[in-house]
Amino acid sequence: MTGILTLERSGREATLPSSVAPRALCWSMIVISDRRCLDYVRPGHPESPARVARTLDLLETQGDISIDWREPFLATDAPIVRVHSPEHLTSLSGGVDFDADTPALPGISEHARRSVGGALLAMNCALDGHPAFSLLRPPGHHATPERAMGFCYLNQVAIAAMEARANGLRVAVFDFDVHHGNGTEEILHGKTDVLYVSVHQSPCYPGTGRSSRGNCRNFPMAPELPRDEYRDALSMAWDDVVQFRPDLVAVSAGFDAYRGDPLAQELLEGEDFESLGRDLRSLAVPTFAVLEGGYSTDLPDLVLGFLRGWEG
Ligand SMILES: [Zn+2]
Repeated sequence: MTGILTLERSGREATLPSSVAPRALCWSMIVISDRRCLDYVRPGHPESPARVARTLDLLETQGDISIDWREPFLATDAPIVRVHSPEHLTSLSGGVDFDADTPALPGISEHARRSVGGALLAMNCALDGHPAFSLLRPPGHHATPERAMGFCYLNQVAIAAMEARANGLRVAVFDFDVHHGNGTEEILHGKTDVLYVSVHQSPCYPGTGRSSRGNCRNFPMAPELPRDEYRDALSMAWDDVVQFRPDLVAVSAGFDAYRGDPLAQELLEGEDFESLGRDLRSLAVPTFAVLEGGYSTDLPDLVLGFLRGWEG
């Protein structure tokens, strides 16, 4: 079989389906993770290992949904340098902090490559007919072609979207993290056959996404917006995704628009993330998601609700 995309995994090659047309969707939920992503920490930093550790603990012991677990591979340079400069890739091993939010921690280059590998594997699974969620850290949607920032080093969702586009797919990226995915927008802006849609608090970090431009549709939402209004914006954003008629949907799944999140001031409830999962399911288009933000101690329950809605 000649795959449309070829991915390296543990020194072997895994191929995606030979046809752009997705296989019949089936609803075993694939979750991609690896506890090695817990091995870096900056004490006091909100993007902590405990976020993912506690989420893994819950997903491994819950009985609500059936999970097919997979391990990510380390992404090679080729898909990364389609999006990031070689100089940026080299800088991840340089040992110099990028900013106060984004320290140069030991091994961060490998951790970031693993997050990219998780996104590429999730994409691979989606195109093979399985919904897939990559539960790894670091997150990625603030990383620009030349710069690590906002806890993000490599932009895994944009790398995966551009990999799919390079192979002829029409891709929509749906970003419901409460922060604007400035890096994703910078990478995808002006690209044909790609749509970027983001719903985010504004004003808030990183200060971008105040208006739409071209193929990037932004829904900036005032802090402490009534929950119904925020949900309406999510519905409108999702309608944009549906109307784009994508071959593939990539989701930047951040859970920090939750009312209990310490890094933003929006008011979503847990059931709203379950509703977002149901939206993904309703489209019946190959879809994968990657973890972005979400800093509340309730993150494990929010992720489980999202996957429950998605699995149906
Ligand atoms: Zn965020």
